[in-house]
Amino acid sequence: HVVSVKEALEGKVEVGSKVEVRGWVRTRRDSKAGISFIHVTDGSCQAPIQAVAPNTLGNYQNEVLHLTTGASLIVRGTLVQSQGKGQAFEIQADEVVVLGLVDDPETYPLQPKQHTAEFLREQAHLRPRSNSFGAITRIRHAAAMAIHRFFTEQGFVWVNTPIVTASDAEGAGQMFRVSTLDALKPPRTPEGGVDFGQDFFRKEAYLTVSGQLNVEAYCMAMSKVYTFGPTFRAENSNTTRHLAEFWMIEPEIAFANLSDDAELAEAFLKAIFKAVLNERRDDLAFLDSTVGKGIVTQGGLIARLEAFVQSSFERVDYTDAIEMLKKSKKKFEFAPEWGNDLQTEHERFLAEEHIGRPVVVMNYPEQIKAFYMRMNDDGKTVAAMDVLAPGIGEIIGGSQREERLDMLDARMRKMNLEPEHYGWYRDLRRYGSVPHAGFGLGFERLLVYICGLGNIRDAIPYPRVPGWAQF
Ligand code: ATP
Ligand code: MG
Ligand code: MG
Ligand code: MG
Repeated sequence: HVVSVKEALEGKVEVGSKVEVRGWVRTRRDSKAGISFIHVTDGSCQAPIQAVAPNTLGNYQNEVLHLTTGASLIVRGTLVQSQGKGQAFEIQADEVVVLGLVDDPETYPLQPKQHTAEFLREQAHLRPRSNSFGAITRIRHAAAMAIHRFFTEQGFVWVNTPIVTASDAEGAGQMFRVSTLDALKPPRTPEGGVDFGQDFFRKEAYLTVSGQLNVEAYCMAMSKVYTFGPTFRAENSNTTRHLAEFWMIEPEIAFANLSDDAELAEAFLKAIFKAVLNERRDDLAFLDSTVGKGIVTQGGLIARLEAFVQSSFERVDYTDAIEMLKKSKKKFEFAPEWGNDLQTEHERFLAEEHIGRPVVVMNYPEQIKAFYMRMNDDGKTVAAMDVLAPGIGEIIGGSQREERLDMLDARMRKMNLEPEHYGWYRDLRRYGSVPHAGFGLGFERLLVYICGLGNIRDAIPYPRVPGWAQF
């Protein structure tokens, strides 16, 4: 009966029954009585299961004594109640099959206290085996599944938007180029025939910065849609909050305004946090226990998420937020000024100190927001919102979209974008346009918040940043 470590530890099989566990050695300890205590993990949960094995076992006599951290094995035996403290069940081993020993047991793995986040990011074999990355990886999975479940339950349809695109969805010139500049020159084949080359069919092609424009087209047909996929930005990713490749969640709702959008954002965040609290409490508690010693820099994870779920979001107008910042006694590095974007220090002050719970800031000056956001009646602000969370600042950016073609064109021209480049997007305003709204949320930003991480690079299995490792 093959079981996962999690199933064995939770007593999913009857005590006294025969089980088989497959995994890797976390630690081995030997008793004088010729018994080895092997802690085995398989990634299914934080805790290892203890296998109690006579050290005569193995593929040859006493092979058990060669097992070191990281070695792979199969343990067959009987699931029994554990006498030791810390775990309820253990395996009384009859058979140990060693699959792979470790090449250099003297140095693998280095002592846990020597593992810095930077070191682990460059060790593809070691990073996922560390306790912290095991926990983050499981939390990431639980959050991703909760996101799909939330939208499905609310009647949304998941739309996969293109990764390779020609549209600059943000109009901010942050797209990585896929095709080379040669792509637009005449074909290289001597006969003048078709040369597909590697330049994406000789078209100017880029990696997407956001699926929003594409998802809007489907919103104008399916009413409630979302995209959840990889996104790329050619910007300075030498920060603790930016990656060159990250995953974005972008819902879009039709027949909706900014207030509906804020409501959706609140329900969404709470549902995801609730699911993670329910499903991965063990991993959250483990990460919490490592605050300040590893990659977790903010503690009280469970309490923070529970408080978030209980809170009701405050809504503040951008103009009022600027007034609050100006009236505060706080010394900011950048003085708050109407017309400038809020800095992270401003955002954190509002959410943490001034208001003390999540805040939705609404109606930003048009000059600091993207071209697709809807112009308000005041002619100065657009129907944009940012959701600010205590402990991190901006976590979500969203808006009601400009559904009026003349207004959209005017805004594009003002921002030096050429409406002709967005023909298909403009068409959405020509054939049964309706008010609609949506938001974008960086999945890794969300994980930084959930896990209390000091650096966004530790929220993704393979971080892509300047000087990224080769794998
Ligand atoms: P920031 O001000 O932090 O640079 P932004 O305003 O440029 O963010 P948006 O264009 O509003 O970001 O994108 C929506 C969301 O995507 C953000 O709220 C954030 O969660 C996430 N995000 C943006 N850029 C990155 C990045 N480089 N790495 C990871 N997540 C990102
Ligand atoms: Mg940015
Ligand atoms: Mg911002
Ligand atoms: Mg933003």
